[in-house]
Formats: sequence, structure tokens, C-alpha cells
Amino acid sequence: MAGAHSEVLVTVSPSTEPNEVAPAVAALDTIVSLAKRRGFVFPSSEIYGGINAVWDYGPLGVELKNNVKRAWWKAMVQERDDIVGLDAGILMHPQVWITSGHVGSFSDPLVECGTCRRRYRLDELPGAESLSATELRDEGIVERLGLKCPNDGGPLSPPRRFNLMFETHMGPVQDDASVVYLRPETAQGSYVNFKNVQQSTRKKLPFGIAQVGKSFRNEISPGNFVFRMREFEQMEMQYFVRPDAAAQVFEEWLPRRWDWYTRYGVSASRLRFREHAPDELAHYAKKAVDVEYRFPFGWKELEGIHNRGDFDLSRHSEASGESLEYFDPATEEHFIPWIVETAGGPDRAAFTFLIDSYREEEVRGETRVSLALHPDLAPYKVAVLPLLKKRPEIVSLCHAIRDDLKRDLMAVYDDTAAIGKLYRRQDEIGTPWCVTVDVDSLEDGAVTIRDRDSMTQERVPVEGVRRAIIDRMETARG
Ligand code: ATP
Repeated sequence: MAGAHSEVLVTVSPSTEPNEVAPAVAALDTIVSLAKRRGFVFPSSEIYGGINAVWDYGPLGVELKNNVKRAWWKAMVQERDDIVGLDAGILMHPQVWITSGHVGSFSDPLVECGTCRRRYRLDELPGAESLSATELRDEGIVERLGLKCPNDGGPLSPPRRFNLMFETHMGPVQDDASVVYLRPETAQGSYVNFKNVQQSTRKKLPFGIAQVGKSFRNEISPGNFVFRMREFEQMEMQYFVRPDAAAQVFEEWLPRRWDWYTRYGVSASRLRFREHAPDELAHYAKKAVDVEYRFPFGWKELEGIHNRGDFDLSRHSEASGESLEYFDPATEEHFIPWIVETAGGPDRAAFTFLIDSYREEEVRGETRVSLALHPDLAPYKVAVLPLLKKRPEIVSLCHAIRDDLKRDLMAVYDDTAAIGKLYRRQDEIGTPWCVTVDVDSLEDGAVTIRDRDSMTQERVPVEGVRRAIIDRMETARG
């Protein structure tokens, strides 16, 4: 695998690559309507007409997203002894965001239509997608390219910088002194807690701090379902290293993060690395590479991996007056650690897993839709189904099996349709296994385990069902 990554890195050029790789699903609407119909994602406050760019996760969506976060935590914290977790507040001292540069420059290039007043992010307008960062700051760019409003063809303003941070006020008095920000990233919580974490855990460099939590950005042009929201979650990890190790450590994180997506089922053919061009990099950043996925709407960032140098800890040291130096007992040196960051999000990741697992196939003249989700990600691991719901002995055996399974995993009972339809419903939400109790079960004490992907069925003694499912889960983990 490692060889394949470096090959991708060398051959992929920045953002202009044509979309010759087909997406897993041609139309985004296929996923959006499945997500709504089956209870993965709903528009927020829908009965009031909704609120733009906020989505609510329904009963299946919350399971999927929790599983994505759990899988990330497992790979980043549980399976490693050099990374620890943190859950910092969403509200932080406002000085944090001044020091980090967000108050001054966390912005996107905004253009506004002179007639309909619609606002757009310049780099998302047709004809402007591949502009360089320098061109996006150019006041004359709209005129030179002859860009017009996609809605009504009206004239567009020159680009201006639009700050993406949400402000609110802390305490009962609304004045400038009470302004606080909803965090636009989780990373700053890890930087300002560097010393607390290092001293309380006695970690030696290199070590990392992982966080999962809500972030907020007043995005100019949110959209594409949960891809770009104004309230979303991030899964970010800050890895603190010696300055001379950062370049090497950065390269090591690239295949690790790629492998995490493929390990949970994303096809490598729809992933690529894209290195940021020099004028796209934040001024302090040494190197940045995005893991991109071929969404139905193009290649887009799934996760960013950044070599941030010593910028963050140096700036916070200077501004707070608190030294964030590290003392290396091996070399007896004092220095500010450099940071390699992996910055992804469970919303985009869950969305990607949904899209990439979507399957349609012909089965006996009918279209079968299934989500071939990795069992660790699937909302329900097992559905227990009666062949005849009119037989109370069958139903009570189903309940007993479901209750036994529930001790270890998400298991559901369903009897609201005939068995063929029940299978299709579970296929469509990605349930890897169905356990069916039939009339014979009452005689031979055995039930059928049906596999979502192969649709094969295996007869298993009732008392062996839990073990059989757990074994299958372990096999899926490899
Ligand atoms: P983009 O270029 O798409 O705006 P970004 O480079 O600003 O993304 P980062 O600041 O690196 O994104 O954030 C890290 C991760 O957080 C992203 O890779 C993505 O998974 C997630 N993320 C960022 N913004 C949003 C959003 N508005 N909605 C959902 N997820 C987001």
C-alpha cells in the first residue's frame, strides 16, 4: 500500500485534474433521498422551512456517525500509545482566536450579485474553480474573467474577504468586551492545552492530542448536503514532534490516513492525494496535502494533513506569556515543538462511506439497493426477523435472540412486512446480517443467518448466534 500512495502523490497535480474517475453514485440525490427516507439525515427545523446548512442526524444517521467517530478514535487513540484524547470547550478565551490569526484572516473570497444580492464563494463559481490563491485576492479578477451571477446573470462585485467565525456574547451584557466565538476548529483547544496534557500524562515527544467535536463556520456557500455545513463536527489530531522530525513524520501520516478510509471500505480508486500549491498554503505552513474523494460533485477534500511548523505554540507562548517549550531529557534541549496535524470530519467521512457503499443490482427482475457498509460502521449489525409473525413462539424466540445480541451490539427486531421485503429494507440501510426464525426453528433449535452482500444463508444453532455474529464482525476487521 505504501508504494501505491507515493505513486499517487507524485502523479497527481493540483485541483485541475479532469474528473475521469467516475463517482460511486452518479446523482447526489440518490443518497440524499435515501438518507431522508430511511432516517439517516433530516433538514434541521424542517417544520419551519428549515435552516440553511444545518442538518439533523436521524436514528440511523446518529448510529453511523457515532460509529465513524468510534472507528477514528480506535485508530488514532485506542490502538496507539503515543496519542491521547481531549475534549476542550467550544467557547474559548477570545484571545485564542486573535493569536491564532482567525479573527484577522479566517476568511473566504466573497462576491455579491448587484441585482439579486446573492452571495457566492468566488472559487466555487463556474469558471473560477481553479484560480490560484493569488488570483482569488485580485480585485480585478471578476471583470477580467467576465464572471456573472449564476442565478440571474447580474454583475458581480470584486471579491472581498468574509470572516467565517460566528460571534456570540458571554454573560448578560452585550458589548464588545463580552464577544466570544464559536470555535471554527477543534485544533486550538489542543494547542492551548499542550502543557496540561504533556505534564499530566508525562508524554515524551513525539506524541499527539486527538479531539472530536463540534465546530462552526459561517460558510458563504454551504451545500452538497452534509459536505459543507455551518455547524459540523471535526476529528482532528495534533502530533507534536521535534522540529527536525516533522518532515518525515508528515510523510508517515499520509498513508495512515489513506489506509483508514480504505480499511473501512472506501475504494482507493476514488481517493487521491492533492498537495497544496505554494500560494495556497497558510503563510506558516510548511506543507499540506489533502486526501480527496471523488464525490458526485467532483474531487473534494475529505481530510487535510498539515505540517504547521512551530507557528501555533510559538504564537500562543508569545501572546499568553506562558512558555510552551518542551524540555527533551535525552538531548537536554529546550525547544518549541512542531506540529503535524490530521484534520478530518465525521460528517464528510460518514457521507463518503454512504456514497461509496451504495450498490444497485438486479435480483430476480427487481432492483436491489444495498449499502455495503463495513460492519463496524453499519448502524445495525443484525436484524432478527420472524418468518411468520402470527406464531407467538416464533416471535418470542426472535425477541430472546435479539435481547441476547443487544448485550454486545445494535440488534433490531422487525415484523412489519413479509420476509423478502424485510431483507430489502435491511439491505438498504446496510445491516450486514439478518437472523431469521422459521417454523423449523421451533423443532430443530436452529435459525438462518443471511449475509447482506452475498445473500447466502447459513443454518446456526440458536445458542451459537451471538458467537457467529461476533466472529463475523472480527473477520470483517481483518
Ligand atoms: P474546505 O476547503 O472544504 O473548506 P477546509 O480546508 O477549510 O475545507 P479544514 O479547515 O482543514 O477544512 O477542516 C478539516 C476538516 O473539517 C475538513 O477536511 C472537513 O472534513 C471538515 N470540515 C471543514 N469544514 C466543514 C464544513 N463546513 N462542513 C462539514 N465538514 C467540514
